[in-house]
Formats: sequence, C-alpha cells, structure tokens
Amino acid sequence: MKKFYITTPIYYVNARPHLGHAYTTIAADVLARYYRVQGWKVFFLTGTDEHGGKIEKAAQKVGKSPQQFCDENSERFKKVWEELNISYDNFIRTTDPSHIKAVKKALEILYKRNFIYKGIYKGLYCPGCEQYKTESDLKDGKCPDHQIKPELIEEESYLFRLSRFENILKEKIRTDELKIEPEQRKNEVLKFLSQGLKDISISRQRVRWGIRLPFDQRLTAYVWVDAFLNYLTGIGWEGDPKNIPEFWPPDVQLMSKDIIRVHATIWPGLLLALEIPLPKRLFVHGYFTIEGQKMSKSLGNVIWPEEMIGKFGVDGTRYLLLSSCPFGQDGDISWQKLIKKYNADLPKGLGNLVSRILALAEKINTNSYLREKNLSLQQIQNVNLRKEVENTWQNYKRSFQKLKLNESLVWIWNLISFCDRLIQKERPWEELNKHQSIICDLLRVLKNIAEMLQVFLPESSERILDQIKGRKREKPLFPKL
Ligand SMILES: [Zn+2]
Repeated sequence: MKKFYITTPIYYVNARPHLGHAYTTIAADVLARYYRVQGWKVFFLTGTDEHGGKIEKAAQKVGKSPQQFCDENSERFKKVWEELNISYDNFIRTTDPSHIKAVKKALEILYKRNFIYKGIYKGLYCPGCEQYKTESDLKDGKCPDHQIKPELIEEESYLFRLSRFENILKEKIRTDELKIEPEQRKNEVLKFLSQGLKDISISRQRVRWGIRLPFDQRLTAYVWVDAFLNYLTGIGWEGDPKNIPEFWPPDVQLMSKDIIRVHATIWPGLLLALEIPLPKRLFVHGYFTIEGQKMSKSLGNVIWPEEMIGKFGVDGTRYLLLSSCPFGQDGDISWQKLIKKYNADLPKGLGNLVSRILALAEKINTNSYLREKNLSLQQIQNVNLRKEVENTWQNYKRSFQKLKLNESLVWIWNLISFCDRLIQKERPWEELNKHQSIICDLLRVLKNIAEMLQVFLPESSERILDQIKGRKREKPLFPKL
C-alpha cells in the first residue's frame, strides 16, 4: 500500500494561532484527506514548539511557569484545529517526555560521531527569531521580521558541523532529490548555499527552558535542533537512527517562507549526520496581506481564524483561505473581498446548484428511475456532461499532484458553472417528464462534485451526499451574507 506522510511546522506557543497557522494546517489537512480517499496509508503530523528563551520570557510576563504557559497555549491550537475540522494523526509537543528522551539520544549520537564539537561562536543573534543572522539578512542593520538590532554574541558553545554538508546539500537540492517548491524558493536556497555553509551553534548558555545537552548539563539545546526532530519523534522515533518508523521519510513538509532556509540546511544536515533519509519535498506557501499591508497587531488589521469561522462557518473559512490565492504565492485579502467571494462561490455558486438540482429531483419520481441504476460517473447518459465530469476529475487530480490546491477548486467551480449553463439551456422544469434523464444525470454530477469537495469541505460534502440519497432539500448549505 502506498504511504503519504505530511507535516506542518510545529507552531511556536508564544502567541495564539493566527491565520497563517490556519492556512498551513488546512492545506495539510486537505492533502491528508485527499490521499486517504485515494486509499493510501496516511500520517498527518502537526503540533507545537514549546522550548526557548522567548517562551520563558512570555511565561514570566504573565506570571506562569513555562510548562503551564505551554500547556495552555498548546490547547488553544488544538481547539482551533478541532473547530476547523483538522484530521491530524498526531499532535506532537516538544515538551512530551518521549520527544525529549529521543532528542537527547540523537544529540548523544551526534556528539559521539564527532558531528558536535566544542568551540567559540560569535555572531549576530536576533532574540525574536532565536536565530543567528548574517549581514545580508538585515535591513538597515535590523532584523526585517522583528525591527530590532541583533546582538553580537560571543559564547562558548557546542557547534554542529553543518559545513560538511554544503556540497551534498547543493547537489541534492539542485537535482530535486530534496525537492524545494516553488522553484523561486529553491533558487533562493541555492543562492544562500553558494555563499558557503558555516558550522552552527547548537547550544545555549542563557536559555534555561530547553532540553539539557546530555554531554554538558549546563547548557540547553538550540530550540531549532530540538524542534526539527519532532518530524521523527511525532511518528514514534525513539532516537535510534537504525530504527526508523515506517512512515519515514515525509512526502511533503509544508511551511511558510520565513523558515525554509533552516529547513533546507540545518534540518537535512542533522539527518545526513544521523544517516537518516531526507524528506522528499519541502513546499513553501505564501503569506496573506490585508489590503496590501502586513497583518499586524499594531496596525489593528489582524483577521483571526475564530473570526472567520464565526462569519463564514468552518467550510466557508476552509474554502476562502485555500481559494484566495495560488498555493505557493502571497495573497491579499480583506473582509470585503472575502465576503464577496463567499457570496459568489458558496451560496450563489455551489449552494444554488445543489438546491436547483434537488428541487427538480423532488418533482419527478427519480426514485423509480434511479432504482436499478446507480449514481456513478459511468451512468451519466448525456455524453457531453459525462466528458466534462471526466475531464474535471483528471484536472482535479493533476492539480493535487502539483500541490496546486486552489487550482483543484477552480476545476470544481468550472463544473458547477457548466451545470448552471446546461440547466439554463435545457429548462427541464418546463417539461419534467421529457427531462427525467437529464435530471438524473445532474444528480449524478452533483454526487461527483460532492466527492471532489469532501477533502476541502468535509461537512458540506456530507450534507450534499445525504440530500442526494434522500432526494430531499434541507435548509441552505451556506447562508447569504
Ligand atoms: Zn528576528
């Protein structure tokens, strides 16, 4: 049986889940559902990143212990994922004792194999990113993401021999053995690699909230090293490179562009040192801006996932986020744009077609007509219509292979428009008996549409299928706004 292992990044619990987190996680959920429907063995991993100085400070600020703080914030992520119908197989937390145990074991092995050595590390450190920065990363001497000047830090440190993997990584990325998409991101990574790869510090002196290095208890592990290994421990890895879980390697790892560089260097570097196969595909999606501006609390323009769910429902939110821009590129949204798209595509588009077809089916005795026939694609009598549905399935699947999730939706909505035009042309309500065949065909098409939609809009799809089975209309699937 074919397997499909997909991951989201683990989200940092210093803040509540935002729209970007929701976007990545919904996309991963759609892909996981898609391969499950195809009959593949699927594992979908998400979770929270809970160590590091930022968390320690954030907890202190609200007068909580780091663990209590993590417990509460991790729950907030879980709660939103539940509301959004996210079908993850495991929610990993980096404070899970089994994760910590495995990370210690892996660090011990890297140390014994001489991939970790003691030295002095000097560099520009952004406490916001918890990352060392190069001069070329900075804008006007500041971290562009945090608008702060990084500190020059020089400390006794344990270093990981990342430089050893410069050439092998270049080769694997260039030849797509480690595939980075979209192409633009791959080129950015290759350009970064062409400047040379340095050994990185993997220990922290001043951060207490972290995993203690097994070979030097005074220090904690760099939070990224701890975090990356979640992709292994989340499927049951116990820290032994010779004993790799069956789902390994990941088929797709989704992420936003701010973390692709570390995922394309440190992460595969660790795996190469541990002699564990690399992930197959790293896919970078874009950001949402609001009317051309970055979403930010100070600008007061943030749209929270819960607000979207409140307005558009769960499926409405899933649909709008995935259809608002090509997957892999940035998208610009606003409440106004979202409401317009929602009304046009859901109540007026899909919802209207469902009620039109079911209203026609109610009027004729489709039960007797359809009893001996099933509702499958092959049973569609109208040749043009059948061809249209077949083509839609093909294009829909092709778009999935290319991870063009928004494109899959476009194909479905093209089919919806095709049906609308057909109904308009045939006017079956004028002579119902003469049009029994086309009405039954439309029911069959509707069933196919619901099947294509089940990975995107699981609840609505189920409701459509139930209504087709009962040949009965219920209240509208999507209220007009
Ligand atoms: Zn920063």
